[in-house]
Amino acid sequence: MFEIVFLGTSASAPSIRRGLSAQVVLHDEYRFLVDCGEGTQRQILHSGLGFKRLNRILITHGHLDHILGLAGLISTFMRWETIDALEIYAGRWALERIKELIFGVVLRGATPPMALSLHEVKEGPIFEADDFTVRAFPVWHRGPDCYGFLFEEKDRHPFLAEKAEALGIPPGPWRRDLVSGQAATLPDGRVVQPGDVLGPSRPGTRLVHIGDVGRTEDLAAVCQDADALVIEATYLSEEAEMARKFAHLTARAAAELALQAGVKHLILTHLSRRYRERDVLAEAQAVFANTVVARDFDAFQVRRGECVRQQPSSRPAEEQG
Ligand SMILES: [Zn+2]
Ligand SMILES: [Zn+2]
Repeated sequence: MFEIVFLGTSASAPSIRRGLSAQVVLHDEYRFLVDCGEGTQRQILHSGLGFKRLNRILITHGHLDHILGLAGLISTFMRWETIDALEIYAGRWALERIKELIFGVVLRGATPPMALSLHEVKEGPIFEADDFTVRAFPVWHRGPDCYGFLFEEKDRHPFLAEKAEALGIPPGPWRRDLVSGQAATLPDGRVVQPGDVLGPSRPGTRLVHIGDVGRTEDLAAVCQDADALVIEATYLSEEAEMARKFAHLTARAAAELALQAGVKHLILTHLSRRYRERDVLAEAQAVFANTVVARDFDAFQVRRGECVRQQPSSRPAEEQG
């Protein structure tokens, strides 16, 4: 299961209700801040997420509305908050700009307040844990080296408790080994193979995050059957020409991608101040009914086949007082 919390959902400039691009993807103890527009640190506080374990930042591309918040965040880490390490992942061009911002403007010769590592993103896996991976894939937008991110749980083989009972496998390390795919030697000397107690493979949850993007033709494959697709919808079709000019999507184009790729849920973000939310939603839903438009501080739990909006009160505030 992945959870995504939207911290900023406005395109280009903030509005009264919407901050600039930022969202946090959570999986167990892992947290990934995806993009860090200006004002993100205050949104982090306001969301109740806090800075704890927020030590991996993925950047979709180097436009200012997606990176300027890094300066304030690192400045705060220098004085107030402490984390052990910070890893920033971005394409080459974005990384160049981020380096100038961090080392040229914020640090200016000072030692970073934590172990700071910058990773150049290329197409392929960029992070792997026991049960999930994060992959980067190229997207077409203004400027080079723009990426989307696929968060994907590894396939799972469910543990069949009734089979384990029938084989007389006691609870404890034997079952744990079998679940992790290893053979187990029981106290009575019998050897049980994982295949004896594990069911057929089930695909894991897939959450696709695409930031600013101007073309969808090459994205259907990576979005195929995703449980949730998060993608920008900066324009309405009435201004499709502007969308083309600035390499952004219309709400309809985003919905057509969702339909074509057979995704289960579509979450739109990166809204322009020029439109009403309900018009963006209506245009997308006319093509793909299972669409929502994210607002700042919306949180969704994404499971296989499921994407459930959380109540704002369900998150314990870590940063109160
Ligand atoms: Zn943008
Ligand atoms: Zn952009």
